[in-house]
Amino acid sequence: MLSVEEALEQILSRIEPLGTELVEVLAALGRVLAEPVVSRMELPPWPNSSMDGYAIRSEDTRGGSAELAVVGRIVAGALPPRPLRAGEAMRIFTGAPLPEGADAVVPQEDVDADGARIAVPRRVESGAHVRPAGEDIRAGDVVVGPGHVVGAAEVGLLATLGYTRARVYRRPRVAILSTGNELADLGAEPGPGQIPNTNTYSLMAQVLEAGGEPVSLGVVPDRLEAIVERLRWGRAADVLVSSAGVSVGELDLVREALTQCGAELHLWKVAMRPGKPITFGSLEGRPVFGLPGNPVSAMVTFELFVRPALRRMQGCVAVDRPRIVVPALEPIANPGGRRGYLRVTLARDGGDYGARLTGDQGSGILRSMVLADGLAMVPPGTTVAPGERVEVIVLRALEPRAA
Ligand code: AMP
Ligand code: MG
Repeated sequence: MLSVEEALEQILSRIEPLGTELVEVLAALGRVLAEPVVSRMELPPWPNSSMDGYAIRSEDTRGGSAELAVVGRIVAGALPPRPLRAGEAMRIFTGAPLPEGADAVVPQEDVDADGARIAVPRRVESGAHVRPAGEDIRAGDVVVGPGHVVGAAEVGLLATLGYTRARVYRRPRVAILSTGNELADLGAEPGPGQIPNTNTYSLMAQVLEAGGEPVSLGVVPDRLEAIVERLRWGRAADVLVSSAGVSVGELDLVREALTQCGAELHLWKVAMRPGKPITFGSLEGRPVFGLPGNPVSAMVTFELFVRPALRRMQGCVAVDRPRIVVPALEPIANPGGRRGYLRVTLARDGGDYGARLTGDQGSGILRSMVLADGLAMVPPGTTVAPGERVEVIVLRALEPRAA
């Protein structure tokens, strides 16, 4: 049996980033940059005031105080009327450029002003309340490297640097196929012995969350020819993901169907729970995943194997989720013989976060995923006692939740 890490390494060794495209700056949100963001200018472009007040020459206050003549007024968006000479001050507003000769700003509340003159009561240091040119960004700086996910701050940065469009990696198109005689698709009343189709929808949502574009190939019964034919519908996709029919039952036909389509398969037993054998292979150069059918197993194996592959295809430098180590807030037991990925909520216990099971951990219990902020990794045959620390893969941003 392979460890999760070994299986993932084998998968990623066969995955390459897709091509790139240019998108409008706002449409780059959540996408992965394919080129470095380079500044062609200094930011701020010139020294400017961080306060409403008076631009002065600090040396004029060297004696401990100064009386200065107010010789001009500079608002943001305008240029100083002329350089500042000894014994002079200019009224200045936040963001306005400093006049040549000035090296400090005194906030308006710190001076006595009577129109034409101001009294500065104390010594002012050079650079006070001045934002120097290039303080934020210097010309030629690589501000964000390729492979980074664009967030709101990066969108603002792109706009500041004059990028009207950004080059990002293409989103992988992912075809999702659910197999099983027992499945009634959304909108159809389940017949006798049928259950609703969960996986098509949870997996498509996971594809979207991973930055991909899902396409549903619908539900197909456990018949070899039917599966083979339906798999062919997925030819235009970059990745194929199926659920169910990959274990050893008579009706587990997905592997054979993939082989008939010409896929080269690597079948693994991975030492994890939930998740039984998973199938990974390549079909006409494209990755294919055969995930287990239990809704929780399908989601967890997607999380551990498919998501990193989709991130790699998008050129991400970091394909893994963040991990944290937190105390258990209750016993977290993995009695089984394989490493457990137990669904936990991250809740605050006093000041700090800790992990609590989301309830029954059966692989058919979808509710255990619904409440999950993370997957606690517990070695085989181990119980993490309350207060002991456990490593958790963080699945989502923590938000306060109604009880
Ligand atoms: P299998 O791997 O085909 O043996 O399926 C394992 C379990 O997952 C069975 O209980 C199936 O009924 C269930 N299952 C398979 N596919 C789906 C699906 N798309 N939605 C919900 N449950 C499923
Ligand atoms: Mg089945």
